[in-house]
Amino acid sequence: MTAQALLIQRSEMVLRQLKARGIKEQTVLKAMATVPREVFVPEALLSRAYEDGPLRIGKGQTISQPYVVALMIQALELDLRSNVLEIGTGSGYGAAILSRVAGQVTTIERIGHHAARASTRLKELGFDNIEVIDGDGIQGFEKNAPYDGIIATACGGEIPSALKNQMKNGGRLVMPVVDGSYSQRLIKLIRRSESKFDEIDLGPVAFVPLLSGIES
Ligand code: SAH
Repeated sequence: MTAQALLIQRSEMVLRQLKARGIKEQTVLKAMATVPREVFVPEALLSRAYEDGPLRIGKGQTISQPYVVALMIQALELDLRSNVLEIGTGSGYGAAILSRVAGQVTTIERIGHHAARASTRLKELGFDNIEVIDGDGIQGFEKNAPYDGIIATACGGEIPSALKNQMKNGGRLVMPVVDGSYSQRLIKLIRRSESKFDEIDLGPVAFVPLLSGIES
């Protein structure tokens, strides 16, 4: 796979998987056209880096489908002053896209192996506005709160109250939530006041589960 071939695949992904399906936010499209997804997938899957689906990254986890990454990040309505929290760093790809459309990114991963790899990779690539935390994101990360945007890339039974509490007034949260035994919905919350949240259903999705506690 040459660098040139990967570059062509990346721009085709933006055109066919994102623009064709209605992703419009220019900052998100630009980030997806710039960040090299191939660096975040296992070497053996290099030639599949721009496939229209999730890929396995080890320890039962996946790097999300490009369209889903773009859809979720677009829904967060971020700008370069935004303070963002991501639950589920995984490969670090989502954090890299967030870092291009927001001001400051905090990302939490419960599997130590993935947190360490993502942290090293993001530093090597020069992303200097991302803080990778090795821990359980169900409690959020109070130290850097409140957040303009919170994104969870693992599916929970409900939206954890700690995450709702760490949203700014006017802030947005996007997270997959269980809906029946085999289905999940992507939910967007907008915090209107201390206790009022509006909820928007962004459609069906398939994510790995949000688990409590940590592992190596
Ligand atoms: N955003 C990632 C997607 C990773 S898949 C990427 O771009 O690659 C979801 C990740 O969420 C997995 O790595 C999983 O270990 C992690 N996860 C699940 N429950 C978690 C929790 N409670 N706290 C932090 N991370 C969690």
